[in-house]
Amino acid sequence: MKVTEHIKKANGKTLFSFELIPPKKGNNIQDLYNNIDPLMEFNPPFIDVTTSREEHVYIDKGDGLLDRKITRMRPGTVGICAAIKHKYDVDTVPHVLCGGFTKEETEYLLVDCHYLGIENVMALRGDAMSHQRYFEASKGGHQYATQLVDQIQNLNKGKYLHDVIEANHKANFCIGVAGYPEKHLESPSLQTDLKRLKEKVDAGADYVVTQMFFDNQKYFEFVKAAREIGITVPIIPGIKPLAVKKHLQLLPQVFKIDLPEPLITEVEKCKTNTDIRQVGVDWAIEQSKELMDANVPVLHYYSMGKSTNIKAIAEAVF
Ligand code: FAD
Repeated sequence: MKVTEHIKKANGKTLFSFELIPPKKGNNIQDLYNNIDPLMEFNPPFIDVTTSREEHVYIDKGDGLLDRKITRMRPGTVGICAAIKHKYDVDTVPHVLCGGFTKEETEYLLVDCHYLGIENVMALRGDAMSHQRYFEASKGGHQYATQLVDQIQNLNKGKYLHDVIEANHKANFCIGVAGYPEKHLESPSLQTDLKRLKEKVDAGADYVVTQMFFDNQKYFEFVKAAREIGITVPIIPGIKPLAVKKHLQLLPQVFKIDLPEPLITEVEKCKTNTDIRQVGVDWAIEQSKELMDANVPVLHYYSMGKSTNIKAIAEAVF
């Protein structure tokens, strides 16, 4: 079932969902199941699985020279989505990236999703690779998520890239896109970024999931501004519980988001990592309760492969 249908069916009740990161290659999918199991009692109607960009690795050739190769550390998003969907009878949402994929590769990936009964996808641009200053599209790939939304919508109309096949049935993907309450880090202003978001929605995106934020006011203002420019689709808040002291520097640096002063003060008072995790959980519970009171359609948690803190939050909120 589509994410938007789940929201409609919930009839105003806030739903619980979360995002998983595929395990590093070579690891067993059982680790992932062990993290999903404790969260299933909260009835997530859908679970997202991220896609990691390719990375450069340097292989020692033995003659003092290094060979640069491209590899993916966490492949398998679509396979994991299919496994979870069938094991737990839950909808899954693979994240589909522009970066690192040609349009043809994207088409094959979407065809696989269609065969597997996966009805939802998150259409994302992806970040720049670690050695790049700016995002660069792959040769034959998309530059912006809007173009990816276009491609997915074309498949929904039965239009394949090279039009050599007469498709006798159409895909029917529900498309999620990313939104940034504190603006995307490359965008010159929040207003410009919102216009870009509107372009994604006008191209056919059905819902928005936000970047993490720690101050609900930022989300409320973002939704208000989005509605004012005519974005009417559901805007799902993304919540990440802060878990380690390093997050105080890392999250603002990587995502260009602000952390509220009271949260920083509480973290700085902590003596142990356990204390910090508890502060992160408590903060996320308060955020979640306020968002739920504001009738958000879904509370979507960034689990980062660990379910214990998400379970503690869900127990207090759902
Ligand atoms: P876009 O919507 O393409 O926007 C990128 C930038 O370009 C923005 O600054 C935008 O304002 C600007 N822009 C858009 N269109 C135009 C235009 N026509 N002209 C000029 N500028 C334009 N990353 C991963 O690698 N894997 C994941 O699984 C993943 N999941 C995510 C899930 C969520 C909910 C979120 C919020 C982010 C996720 N990301 C993921 C990170 C995401 O890939 C990055 O934030 C990326 O830098 C931007 O992606 P986007 O889809 O928002 O890009």
